[in-house]
Amino acid sequence: MKVIVDLQACQGYACCMMEAPAVFDLDESAGKAIVLEETPSDELRTQVEAAARVCPARAITVENG
Ligand code: SF4
Repeated sequence: MKVIVDLQACQGYACCMMEAPAVFDLDESAGKAIVLEETPSDELRTQVEAAARVCPARAITVENG
């Protein structure tokens, strides 16, 4: 699984880090998400998929494989 955040689209809502705090953080000065773990383990899949779903900007892409 690979996590990609479109930083052009990201509005810094921080919903992603609520859902998957091990994978996402917020760069407060930039107001953008930071991906802490670009290739999270499968145990985090549910959290990562939830984060992608709740992102108001639809900025998170999860690639399988
Ligand atoms: S939820 Fe979406 S818009 Fe908000 S910080 Fe995360 S990636 Fe950015």
